[in-house]
Amino acid sequence: MPDAFVKAAAVLTAAASALAYAALSPQSQLFGPTLVAPPKPNEIALTYDDGPNDEATQRLLEVLARHQVHATFFLIGRFVRQRPQLVREIASAGHLIGNHTATHPWLAWQSAVRIRQELADCNAALEDPLGAPVRFFRAPHGARRPYVLRTARSLGLTPVQWNIIAGDWVPVDPATIVSRVTRGIARNQRRNRASNIVLHDGGHLGIGQPRMATVEATDRLLNQYKPLGINFVTVATWA
Ligand SMILES: [Zn+2]
Repeated sequence: MPDAFVKAAAVLTAAASALAYAALSPQSQLFGPTLVAPPKPNEIALTYDDGPNDEATQRLLEVLARHQVHATFFLIGRFVRQRPQLVREIASAGHLIGNHTATHPWLAWQSAVRIRQELADCNAALEDPLGAPVRFFRAPHGARRPYVLRTARSLGLTPVQWNIIAGDWVPVDPATIVSRVTRGIARNQRRNRASNIVLHDGGHLGIGQPRMATVEATDRLLNQYKPLGINFVTVATWA
């Protein structure tokens, strides 16, 4: 193979992997500013994706109320339309609600029309039960490209990623979730960062996904960190 070709191929491969990193890495800022976590090592945002989800969401609201903390919920529009009352309960308890698209597709690979429709439809579904504009957005799977972020901003939404992921969208016990999150918090504190934790009270495949391990893990994390003087905040505090 001619040398120049090999070099060109290597450059292209590096460029492609940089783009894949920017599209999928939770903390990449290459495609535009995205809210992750400020330099406040004593703050934690508990964020819950893929709801509302009947029992898991209800039990989670009880746990959060018992510990008197507010969390952030990124809801899927099609479930919001099926459970508007549960969405009202989340909001009236003082939690922050954000847009997680209408149907949870991989946005990085969708057409411009579909991206705009997914974000606008979820906003419309939420604004009815909330009676207020939605201000935050999390891309499904964290997958994005510049158009996704531009579209979000044009709809008044700040894109939000995370810096701890607990892998709780598959069956996993509460102790495993707690140990993954605890390791992540320690790492963020060493780096002088707040922790923006993505957990799942729902599942994008449908309402009714089993997420009680996440609810139990939340209770244990709050028992563990509240006595240490950690502040639990919503992502709006950091915007
Ligand atoms: Zn999701």
